[in-house]
Amino acid sequence: MDKRAAIPVTLPRSDPTRSYWQLDPDGIADLRSTDSLPDEADVVIIGSGITGAAVAFNLLSNGTRNIVMLEARQACSGATGRNGGHTKAATYGSFLDHERQYGIATAVKIARLELANIRAVHAFAKEHGIDCDSNHCDTVNIVYDPVQWEQSLHGVKAMREAMPDGDAPVYTIHSAEEAREKFFCGRGGDEGVCGAISYEAGSLSAYKLVIGLLKLCLEKGLNLQTHTPALGLEKIEGGGWKIETNRGSICAKKVVLATNGYTAHLWKKFQGVIVPLRGHVTAQRPGMNMPKEGLPVTYSFIYKEGYDYMIQRPKGSKFEDDIVIGGALMKGFEGGLEEYGTTDDTVFDGIIIEALHESLPRYFGDSWGVDNPEGRLRLAWTGIMGYSPDGLPFVGEMPGEKDLWVSCSFQGHGMVLCWMCARALVTMMEGQGKEEELKKLDSWFPEIFKITEERMRLTFHGRLH
Ligand SMILES: Cc1cc2nc3c(=O)[nH]c(=O)nc-3n(C[C@H](O)[C@H](O)[C@H](O)COP(=O)(O)OP(=O)(O)OC[C@H]3O[C@@H](n4cnc5c(N)ncnc54)[C@H](O)[C@@H]3O)c2cc1C
Repeated sequence: MDKRAAIPVTLPRSDPTRSYWQLDPDGIADLRSTDSLPDEADVVIIGSGITGAAVAFNLLSNGTRNIVMLEARQACSGATGRNGGHTKAATYGSFLDHERQYGIATAVKIARLELANIRAVHAFAKEHGIDCDSNHCDTVNIVYDPVQWEQSLHGVKAMREAMPDGDAPVYTIHSAEEAREKFFCGRGGDEGVCGAISYEAGSLSAYKLVIGLLKLCLEKGLNLQTHTPALGLEKIEGGGWKIETNRGSICAKKVVLATNGYTAHLWKKFQGVIVPLRGHVTAQRPGMNMPKEGLPVTYSFIYKEGYDYMIQRPKGSKFEDDIVIGGALMKGFEGGLEEYGTTDDTVFDGIIIEALHESLPRYFGDSWGVDNPEGRLRLAWTGIMGYSPDGLPFVGEMPGEKDLWVSCSFQGHGMVLCWMCARALVTMMEGQGKEEELKKLDSWFPEIFKITEERMRLTFHGRLH
């Protein structure tokens, strides 16, 4: 892993695999709000994924003007535009680890933040009428491994005890038989189901959500500059930063790095600290026996060596009923080792795609039936995530670097973290003289998400949770 983590992180590559969500890139995909790059801005945000867009929206809503967003490729073409569309926390799985390492109060804060994030994202889409196929529904974890099943039950018990009421995830435990009946799994499949756990989650097109959000930002005056990679950062004497791009430079009072898995290219201290990890996703046509009314929940399939995650496209959406399934990392060469350290989302690993392709009839057994005559696989694509040694995001002002802000490294769970982290970051950015606001922030935002010198010295050993 040391060797993989040491591979120099590059800029986002040109010509990435075509993501399902961007089969029709939106009208603003190549937007440059002004023909030339402005000379200066109050804030320059680098990256136009959910983090960059949410930071921009919060700043603009609070009155900051003159914000320029730089994006290396098309708008929202990073992980957000290439993910699995799942708004689902792994909370009970990570809760015990968080409790052990950081104490129960922090473990509870993280669990509450993730739930609040899921609810806020779906509520925002609804409130602003963003057409992103938002489906705030339940999810189920189908567990195939007895050891994981025991750990799951243990995690649920610990969370129920720690969070007996209030805004806490509510878990329902299902027997293997119930999993077969209610969730169509394992009937005739060749894997034994130990049991299942269902809880609140959801699905959406993160691409369409963020494009909608960017449009709201543009209405409020955001200057978006796509195909404009930030190439370097230089501190200006007396305050602020100069950002070098392929189209000249721009000076800003404040800079926000919303560059997730690519951050180390721009700020070298993140090399080996935020490590890119390539993820694979497929869109597949449902088998002919799958319920015509659609599946009632989203899914994760948890086996000894890893997990796959799955949503079904809701009725009325483009490619309705398609199944989007990603994961299978451990099925890759040397347990997926070669997926670490690479920023190459122009290709995929055929073994991982094959594992995802063959998984659905196995998970659904008789409920799958014969394949759709048009073929099972509609599309396969990859995207780049950012992983940290402690499995947590980095949020805040870069230690020792005034006015350089960061909200990065969301592992495979950005859809349940980025939104609230962006909100927290903006509170910190605007915090001077706003002690009350900062105090309120401390009540819900986990201190351990904040960037510190100490966290930046940790060694990366691979994916946690
Ligand atoms: C294949 C895959 C599947 C996933 N599935 C899920 C899921 O189902 N559920 C979930 O919760 N999470 C999932 N994730 C993780 C989630 O998508 C991310 O955590 C989240 O989208 C991160 O958002 P972001 O805005 O921080 O980063 P990104 O969306 O990656 O945005 C960063 C942006 O910065 C740009 N950029 C980088 N460097 C520069 C530079 N120097 N100059 C200019 N621009 C630059 C990039 O081009 C990119 O657009 C998945 C990720 C992948 C890759």
